[in-house]
Amino acid sequence: SNPSLPQTMKAVIVEKTGDVDVLHYRTDVPVPQPGDGQVLVKNEFIGINYIDTYFRTGLYPTPLPYTPGREAAGTIAATGPSNVPSDLSPGTRVAYMGAQTYAEYTVALASATVPLPSSISTKTAAAALLQALTALTLIRESHPVQRGDWILVTAAAGGVGLWLCQLLKAVGARTIAVASSEEKRNLAKENGAEVTIGYFEDDREKMAEEVMRITGEEGVAAVFDSVGKDTFDTVLKCVRRKGSLVSFGNASGPVTGFALSRLSPKNIRLLRPQLFGYIATREELLQYANELWDLINKDNLQVKIHDVYPLEDVIRATKDIESRKTTGKLLLKP
Ligand code: NDP
Repeated sequence: SNPSLPQTMKAVIVEKTGDVDVLHYRTDVPVPQPGDGQVLVKNEFIGINYIDTYFRTGLYPTPLPYTPGREAAGTIAATGPSNVPSDLSPGTRVAYMGAQTYAEYTVALASATVPLPSSISTKTAAAALLQALTALTLIRESHPVQRGDWILVTAAAGGVGLWLCQLLKAVGARTIAVASSEEKRNLAKENGAEVTIGYFEDDREKMAEEVMRITGEEGVAAVFDSVGKDTFDTVLKCVRRKGSLVSFGNASGPVTGFALSRLSPKNIRLLRPQLFGYIATREELLQYANELWDLINKDNLQVKIHDVYPLEDVIRATKDIESRKTTGKLLLKP
């Protein structure tokens, strides 16, 4: 053990799945120790992601008790005994994806940890890493987007959504952004969307009709949908022949009971990707992360931060993202 480290820390603990009130803020949680191939990070900013909700409600199973959170940025406090790359040492500023990040200290896999260039703050890194890399890999690998393509994006003013709007604009695609309020739609437009629409909750058929009208009755080359259950049937109707339906989230609930034969009339590709499958090696992660820092520094992509909440306000922050009233990224500060 390292004598310069405290024995206990602040962290959020979940003992049973359920509503936001199962999130317990504690100040007496033992500080973990890094093993081989691991680093201990003192978190400065912790990213909130919608996936944190899926684990807490039990939609995605996880052993209990657990500490939520999939990403953070801060400074390496200690390294494991072996198998830690030479670009990671105590004092190095880093961002990483992993587990148990709603805490002052987190043990992260070195393979999932990236050193930060001096131009990127830990706040920017924690706000961008997971959501921006999701957007970047979706438009590169899930459906390689071409200049001039019409693309449909749901939850377009959220964390991943605003990155999709910006990145699609940067590659010359034409985005139809779907968001639930006027304020959100305006923000999607400011971030590069060409057209914005609502969800047509009362008559979803009208949403598909609207997308067909906008695209000259052809449909979109790809849909990037993260709403899931509520929008799946509608967005499927919006895809053009040989286009892609990329379903990458389930904010309204999971899509179930889908008959594959529904893809046949237009030879549609259906994907259900997860970010980790695109950045599974450290080489892949570093390549995409370095590209991201360049996009922020050189191409001036904007990192929209909704708010920074003290870690002890984790319930308020979680209520905010789940109530659909946030735009961009929510951060926690330990
Ligand atoms: P967001 O900031 O986008 O927040 C979620 C948004 O979903 C809301 O703002 C809301 O936007 C929309 N939404 C639609 N229906 C509901 C509902 N019933 N309840 C709550 N929200 C709803 O979150 P993130 O950027 O963190 O994540 C966006 C999506 O991407 C999530 O579904 C997430 O799971 C997915 N994701 C998937 C990854 C992968 O690897 N597959 C990686 C990262 C994220 P509006 O009000 O405009 O509809």
